[in-house]
Amino acid sequence: MRRRDLLTGLGAGAVATGLAGCSETDCGDGATQQSHQSFNWKMVTTWPPKFPMLGTGALYLADIIEQMSGGRLKIKVYAAGELVPAFEVFDAVSDGTAEIGHAASYYWKGKSQAAQLFSAVPFGMNAQEMNAWIMHGDGLELWQEVYAPFNIIPAPVGNSGVQMGGWFNREINSVDDLRGLKMRIPGLGAEVLRRAGGTPVSMPGSEIFTSLQTGAIDATEFVGPANDLAFGFHQVAKYYYYPGWHEPTALLEGLINRDAFNALPRDLQVIVLRACDAASQNMLADYTASNQRALSTLVNEHGVELRPFPADVLDRLRTLTDEILDETAADDPLFARVLDNYREFKRDVSAWHDVSENVVYQRLRG
Ligand code: CA
Repeated sequence: MRRRDLLTGLGAGAVATGLAGCSETDCGDGATQQSHQSFNWKMVTTWPPKFPMLGTGALYLADIIEQMSGGRLKIKVYAAGELVPAFEVFDAVSDGTAEIGHAASYYWKGKSQAAQLFSAVPFGMNAQEMNAWIMHGDGLELWQEVYAPFNIIPAPVGNSGVQMGGWFNREINSVDDLRGLKMRIPGLGAEVLRRAGGTPVSMPGSEIFTSLQTGAIDATEFVGPANDLAFGFHQVAKYYYYPGWHEPTALLEGLINRDAFNALPRDLQVIVLRACDAASQNMLADYTASNQRALSTLVNEHGVELRPFPADVLDRLRTLTDEILDETAADDPLFARVLDNYREFKRDVSAWHDVSENVVYQRLRG
């Protein structure tokens, strides 16, 4: 059993570097005495302003931290582009331009290939399983290790649940239909599409609608019905495919500058991390409730045509996913170590869910 700090949930390594002066069970004066010092933080995010669930989830986190701390830690939230562009959030937190960020770890594969494994793995674990790996498996400790060289402490802050396959202006009836497909898709899913003959494009959410409208891209995924309805993709695409094979869950992240975290008294450190947990749970519930309402609106009011990906297309994409994961692991020892741990947890939790959750979903509901 790993040593895990009782109050913070941080693994032993992060306790040593993250909570200066604290032993595992005794944090000296800071553990028992409330500091009256106040702090003002900036939070940079990769989302459009107040965007449903993602942007509002970041605002919720800032709000509960301020309330839980009695106003001693105030956080001003910046949408993408307001302080730094969407894809500079990681660097902004790393160098202290902002003390905290909200994003998804697969945006940072240029920093470390292993980062991608903490958001979404195609055909991988679902939200419930991913949360279990992060919070009660080795996930969080490995994530801390991957981000440590960048002076960042990661925390889970939200989850989309299973995403949709995306919006397409061409039918996908066979693997051949993926050839030449120019699609906005991030993370490992992008590499799978590339290997299938497509052209993945990386762009933040705010640029997708126009790109689809002008034909600069043939297809896009974003998240699921609630976010996609807000963007209005149904106005510029013909088909809405499912399921989101590339993101059977997408874990969102809090990025915390380690120096800023270390400067907080112990009680505020605990408030920040436990507020991340609360915001994380809140976002998944928000997604589940909002997606079912939005799906109904898309289908019944806007006449959106839902289509499943053909089984042989999904089989091919799964084969390509395994190839890419294995090849990346062969080139990158840290990716390999995280992937091994992820796969072992997935195998074991699947064995459990095959006699529990999956049976209920497949046979007992109706
Ligand atoms: Ca997505």
